[in-house]
Amino acid sequence: MPESTVASIILAAGGGTRFGEAKQLLDWEGQSLIAHTADTAWMAGLEPVIAVVGAAADAVAPVLASRPVQVVRNYRWEEGLSSSLFTGIAALPTETDAAIFMSVDQPRITPRLLQRFIERRHESGRGIIVPQTPDGQPGNPVLFASRYFPELARLTGDVGGRVLLERYADDIAYLPVDDPYTLMDVDTPDAYRRMKDYAGSHERALPFDEIRSLICDMDGVLWRGDTPLPGLHDLTALLDDRGMEYVWVTNNSSRTPGEYVQKLAHMGVTTTEEHILTASVATAQYVADQRPGATVFSIGGNGVREALAAEGLICCDELNASEIDVVVVGWDQQLTWQKLATATRLILEGATFIATNPDLTFPLESSVAPGNGAQIAALEAATGVKAQIIGKPAPPLYRKALARMGAAPDTTLVVGDRLDTDILGGVRLGMPTALVLTGIADREGMVGSPIRPTAVFDSLAVLIEAWRAAVTVHV
Ligand SMILES: [Mg+2]
Repeated sequence: MPESTVASIILAAGGGTRFGEAKQLLDWEGQSLIAHTADTAWMAGLEPVIAVVGAAADAVAPVLASRPVQVVRNYRWEEGLSSSLFTGIAALPTETDAAIFMSVDQPRITPRLLQRFIERRHESGRGIIVPQTPDGQPGNPVLFASRYFPELARLTGDVGGRVLLERYADDIAYLPVDDPYTLMDVDTPDAYRRMKDYAGSHERALPFDEIRSLICDMDGVLWRGDTPLPGLHDLTALLDDRGMEYVWVTNNSSRTPGEYVQKLAHMGVTTTEEHILTASVATAQYVADQRPGATVFSIGGNGVREALAAEGLICCDELNASEIDVVVVGWDQQLTWQKLATATRLILEGATFIATNPDLTFPLESSVAPGNGAQIAALEAATGVKAQIIGKPAPPLYRKALARMGAAPDTTLVVGDRLDTDILGGVRLGMPTALVLTGIADREGMVGSPIRPTAVFDSLAVLIEAWRAAVTVHV
């Protein structure tokens, strides 16, 4: 089943009085609960994120103003929860496949847990996903497929989607959640205090001695331009010493794995193409998994074309192409209006729309140029169809890297220089993450970002030093 977009509806209209102030605005790690919840939904890749506000709306809505959240106002919030369900569902785009209905008072919910709802839906094929505590209790949030939206919108009084669970028990898949605190809600001032204490006691350090494999970004981590960065050789030595599996990954779709092997060779590092995973190769493998032998119209350079051909896909770049199964879009320095027109027509005729990477810009020496994300935006605007993205922070690229190594997410370290791609991709899959500050991200930029790496290092060299110091070698 292909990845599809799942929306989030945050039900934040209630007017509880137990806390002496609006519960939506209680502090959670320096943010308000509503801001924290919206950030979690956004980090999980849910789209759109809709927040339904009602009581204290004039205080709550401004908190969300600078975030990619659609705020809708429920003027009838006093009629109960059902009026907020109606308001949220009415705001969803018509093509929405499913929505996760979140409440504003479960701050221990993580982007990873929300991703697992989507994975559970795909593997079970069920229309309702309900999380379950270790002692078998069903909890919130709940995912509903779009076929339930009309019925949810018709509910009245102070009831939520829970009333549908009994009626449609056959269509429920449960999602086991190990930590009982995860689903706990901020119901009373006492629960709030306990949850805050618990959160504080679980700040974890990078679990170096549990790391068995590595997924590492290249540009800004291993090198800048053509200059190797400090730590490159220490890292490869460490991988050799420990016999660790690794994959170098990149969202850059225009170069081939062979070109990266050569680039590393120039820097004195020997590796092979199996250790390089570009967004183009991951995209081609994804298409070949979903649609073996498909006919593909591609935008993008050699990196895209070669990758598709290597997977036995039939590539076509003729501008009068017809009978195409899939349109693949990668960054293209020879992009023309004619290519966009062909892709638009094919997508409207029903071809699946897949894109290598979502990067909006491409850095130039003194400015930026449109990146693949800008090309995708043009096609999405023209067709009204959302692209399936393969590169970071979408999960497919990292999933492919994990599969190649036969590695588990929780024992695989992600290293990268960008919060919004490298680190967020790891957060979504529940992987430990290390940010290095030799590329895009700096300490200033981290202050306002909800995306938190497990650990931050000034450079790869400092990371490797810490790693060597932390791990006891068992002989
Ligand atoms: Mg990078």
